[in-house]
Amino acid sequence: MTDGVDFEPVDRPVPTGARGLTPVRTCVGCRKRSASSELLRVVVAADGDQVVLVPDLRHRAPGRGAHLHPRYECLNLAERRRAFPRALRVAGPLDLTALHALIGSEAG
Ligand SMILES: [Zn+2]
Repeated sequence: MTDGVDFEPVDRPVPTGARGLTPVRTCVGCRKRSASSELLRVVVAADGDQVVLVPDLRHRAPGRGAHLHPRYECLNLAERRRAFPRALRVAGPLDLTALHALIGSEAG
């Protein structure tokens, strides 16, 4: 793991079949590996005593991040597996409202 090391991907499509150039991360939901540009980075934000998870849309937030496909399926899987507390090393309960709001429900 290389937590804390953030690549800022250049804003251009990732060529398929390119090797060694694109940072690859594992989705905490389905556990499949994807280019980090295809994954949503999720970081912890404290809101008083409540721990909330927020999407890091610019891939710039400091600290530990978890990566997730921006799909309801993967969010749901991650939630059921309690993957977020493990990946982010925080004790639950975690508020996933912001992620649900972004990703939505079944549609998507
Ligand atoms: Zn996934």
